[in-house]
Amino acid sequence: MKTTLVKQALTGDNHDLDHRHSWCAMCERTFSEAEWKRGAGRCPGEGCKAPHSLRVSWKAVRKEHPEYPDHPESNAVYPFEYYSL
Ligand SMILES: [Zn+2]
Repeated sequence: MKTTLVKQALTGDNHDLDHRHSWCAMCERTFSEAEWKRGAGRCPGEGCKAPHSLRVSWKAVRKEHPEYPDHPESNAVYPFEYYSL
């Protein structure tokens, strides 16, 4: 399952959840800390409902995708390409 692979790829950086934004490995959207709180334990993305264990720091995503902006847009999709299997 892709979400599991993505989580494995990013393991080790997860304790460092960005205070501004973090990314959902299921719907591939980013949300601010306040928005995650509003999701009450789930991804705040419409129709997603991923548990917080699939939340990844934006910093970790940017390590693989340095072309992504420093400050991501809330609710925008940032695809994570994961090639090695
Ligand atoms: Zn989500």
